[in-house]
Amino acid sequence: MAFELPKLNYSYDALEPHIDARTMEIHHSKHHAGYTSKLNAAIEGTSDEGKSIEDIISGGNLSAGVRNNGGGFYNHTLFWDIMSPNGGGTPTGELASKIDEAFGSFEDFKTKFSNAAATQFGSGWAWLCWNDGKLEVCSTPNQDNPLMSEAGCGGTPILGIDVWEHAYYLNYQNRRPDYINAFFNVVDWNKVAEHMNNAK
Ligand code: MN
Repeated sequence: MAFELPKLNYSYDALEPHIDARTMEIHHSKHHAGYTSKLNAAIEGTSDEGKSIEDIISGGNLSAGVRNNGGGFYNHTLFWDIMSPNGGGTPTGELASKIDEAFGSFEDFKTKFSNAAATQFGSGWAWLCWNDGKLEVCSTPNQDNPLMSEAGCGGTPILGIDVWEHAYYLNYQNRRPDYINAFFNVVDWNKVAEHMNNAK
């Protein structure tokens, strides 16, 4: 039972002008596809075969192949899922109150998350995580994520932004902060709330 590249719930051009179609196409059909096939190769014939991706990457003592490609598979699957052409705005309900409780206000959360994304040196991700009943922001290098004991930050990711240059360079070049601002126009807060509920 090999992992398969997940289909997007929207077309490659659906997130324009915030994320351009060419970036989406290369990111999904080349980068994410590459992590998927390399993950399958890395686990073939090992005890990881047949496990969920969450079980694989949270198992500790990861080989470089599983850490990089299992992380890449998981991270991008979450990333596509929490974006939508109907995204943007602000969260509601329990997610909104949990954000207020943890960060003071949505604007304060946005600042903290954006700073984590902007200051992640080199390639990596910034995360909003559900950790033991509370929301936290952190960032990780490469394709690490908070499910990995290696990552240095904990909890279950419910929102993530990819700050590898392949995620924004065609449209934004070195202007990572502009890409981070634009990302908030496509975040699907209903999906983020679903991930929070699943993480409980
Ligand atoms: Mn990526």
